[in-house]
Amino acid sequence: DSITGSIKNAVNKIRHKDDVASLKKAIVELKKSLLKADVHHKTTKELITAIELETKRVGIGQDSFINALKLELTKVLTTEGNQGFVYSNTPPTTILMTGLQGSGKTTTTGKLANYLKQRNKKVLVAAGDLQRLAAVEQLKQIAAQVEVDIYFDDNQTDPIAIAKAAQEKAIKEHYDVLLVDTAGRLAIDEELMTQLKNVRDAIKVDEIFYVADSLTGHDATKTASSFKEQIGIDGVILSKYDGDTKGGVALSIASQVGVPLRFIGIGEKMPDLEVFIPDRIVSRLLGLGDIEGLAEKTSAVIDEKKAKAVAKKIKKGEFNFNDFLDQLAMMSKLGSMKSIIGMIPGLSQMAGPLKDMDFENSDEIKRIKALIGSMTEKERLQPSLINPSRKKRIAKGSGLSEVQINKILKQFKNASKMAKKLSSKGGMKGLQNMMS
Ligand code: GDP
Ligand code: MG
Repeated sequence: DSITGSIKNAVNKIRHKDDVASLKKAIVELKKSLLKADVHHKTTKELITAIELETKRVGIGQDSFINALKLELTKVLTTEGNQGFVYSNTPPTTILMTGLQGSGKTTTTGKLANYLKQRNKKVLVAAGDLQRLAAVEQLKQIAAQVEVDIYFDDNQTDPIAIAKAAQEKAIKEHYDVLLVDTAGRLAIDEELMTQLKNVRDAIKVDEIFYVADSLTGHDATKTASSFKEQIGIDGVILSKYDGDTKGGVALSIASQVGVPLRFIGIGEKMPDLEVFIPDRIVSRLLGLGDIEGLAEKTSAVIDEKKAKAVAKKIKKGEFNFNDFLDQLAMMSKLGSMKSIIGMIPGLSQMAGPLKDMDFENSDEIKRIKALIGSMTEKERLQPSLINPSRKKRIAKGSGLSEVQINKILKQFKNASKMAKKLSSKGGMKGLQNMMS
């Protein structure tokens, strides 16, 4: 159940201006939807009281109710403390990644490394989870994927020794950031906490991040509180906060734990991490989208020079298969479709089925990639070279039938023609306007 739909129901209860009875109904509805979305009962009570007061102060109506909602939800999500990633004055900035098993620590370590790498930081990740056999291997793969260095030691069984050696390496080799992955347990236990404390005390730790699985609802809040009490945490990263989670868990953690939310994980892929910015989250919770966030996301990924060069090529009708591959690579850096859709106003409600679309792994894209893989460099740059004998060769290499190849080539030809037409009428601008 998404919180967005039920909040809309609450708003719709308000029929007339200054109708106190309808406001009461809206408040009852709002209370229900907040509780259903796993918002802590104390937080819910504080929220509805404040929202009712604020709506009355401004004058009862749907707009004032929505504005009061925005205001009060934002207030709750705004916790005193650091926002996003904060660099230490004495590098390497060292972060201890903590949380229960399966919460998303290792994945989030990779996502953070990716985020920092995009900002030109030299990042080292340390494989400090020695409990699970596959944990080190998992981090190795992730580090390779986002192209950051990893410290591991297959012969070591002591996480403290790993942390120390990793920090020594990070200092000696002038890394900006060291992210230490740690082991988790299925539930909080003494041994886990002692181990984390020991690691914390053995090296210079700048901040301890707690990765909370937002799918665990109220438990996420409780567990974050005990981590805070026992080892002290400086920030919470909410993982699995993908489009259709309930969303209330962010409100509960912010209000009940009193530690700032720093990032949210919004998918399984490495780019699916965002800085937690309260008013943007509220906007998404209310189904109003997050255009600012979308613009930032695209500007971080899309290389403007390259984009201009491609636009020029399209205009001249010179767009080729290499350009196509470049564009695909750029799309994949944007992360999952789900995370993008939630940022576009109205779309999350309308385009439900699109959410689960995995663009990169669709059969269509796979076929095109296979085709391009079997082309020579010359053919990629100049698709018109592809004659029947070349087609036969490509068919063999790609495992596609000639019919399939013809279809893709024709589609490509039509698409570049269409793009050329559009661009000559200022179509690119038109597209850009549609996006903003
Ligand atoms: P760890 O045991 O805490 O290190 O957890 P992992 O990093 O191994 O993650 C556990 C599972 O959660 C994996 O299947 C991840 O792909 C998945 N996961 C982690 N973060 C997210 C997220 O933000 N969204 C989604 N949908 N899945 C996630
Ligand atoms: Mg792990």
